[in-house]
Amino acid sequence: MSRFWSRVVRDLTPYVPGEQPKIANLIKLNTNENPYPPSPKALAAIQAELDGDAARLRLYPDPNADLLKAAVARRYAVTPAQVFVGNGSDEVLAHVFMALLKHEQPILFPDISYSFYPVYCGLYGVEYATVPLADDFAIDPDGYCGRPNGGIIFPNPNAPTGRLLPLDAVERIIAANPDSVVVVDEAYVDFGGKSAIALVDRHDNLLVVHTLSKSRSLAGLRVGYAVGHPELIEALERVKNSFNSYPLDRLAIAGAVAAIDDQAYFDQTCAAVVATRDALTADLAGLGFEVLPSAANFIFARHPAHDAGELAKALRERNIIVRHFRQPRIDQFLRITVGTDAECQALTDALRAILNPAA
Ligand SMILES: *Cc1c(COP(=O)(O)O)cnc(C)c1O
Repeated sequence: MSRFWSRVVRDLTPYVPGEQPKIANLIKLNTNENPYPPSPKALAAIQAELDGDAARLRLYPDPNADLLKAAVARRYAVTPAQVFVGNGSDEVLAHVFMALLKHEQPILFPDISYSFYPVYCGLYGVEYATVPLADDFAIDPDGYCGRPNGGIIFPNPNAPTGRLLPLDAVERIIAANPDSVVVVDEAYVDFGGKSAIALVDRHDNLLVVHTLSKSRSLAGLRVGYAVGHPELIEALERVKNSFNSYPLDRLAIAGAVAAIDDQAYFDQTCAAVVATRDALTADLAGLGFEVLPSAANFIFARHPAHDAGELAKALRERNIIVRHFRQPRIDQFLRITVGTDAECQALTDALRAILNPAA
């Protein structure tokens, strides 16, 4: 705290990302990164951007990232005017809060959800109310229907539970709130859900947000996008062009286009993650864990006889890091990112040793 801090800064409660420790031989299962490398075509496109004419880096990138919008539009059979792109989906979400969710009424999101949402509310002065998940940690669509609000946002699959809300229930929420924007944050949808992008032509109040950080293995490149009605996109462009005209650099645009175009590699790595997730779920159930059904690249699990914080600590002593949230309702769960088969095997072996020290 300093007397030079603005009022806004004094009152902020910033988001705390999962740690990125610089420890060798660490099995890092705490921030939902993809265990597989990005598409070789994405890496080649980034290299080509440098090789072609490295001096191009002296020039600003395309402020509209038209090539990237075109790639997203091709992939989802929408028009480029229905696409917004940003520096990671976190930036896209920040603009969404400012442009589309800041209204007279409180917005709604689940009590257990992505912990960045209340942070954006704090930054932009957006009022919010939380809607409790059901006892089985599923999103309850009824909680979002018949309740006046300034907007609605939820991840689907939800984070950190991994639970998927079926698309017909998502559409019920959208249809019940024609006067609010409904934002579906689909950071994990490629690991087992159907995208609500299929619904954008039917609902002018729907905005779907995606990231290349998880299913495209490009967390380090910082690319996200939103798809929705052109007037929603225009609102985001107005905020973006009042904040930073060039959020995506030349390398990010080149790599993201190639990654989106490489459908075969994407299908293959997503399928590998899903297969490992299902095997890990079975293995942990075999050790006595209760594992929520996951449609994401992580699982959310608790053990009836072992404290989650203690388990996380014991894993860390064995160089394995997972995420533990000290938060009501979920403080006995661990969120475990799906790694490679070998990483998940190491995790299972470590847990078995921790649970049965004598064996
Ligand atoms: C990871 C994640 C994001 C952020 O992704 P970036 O594109 O890396 O900023 C957004 N929403 C949810 C729910 C996430 O889990």
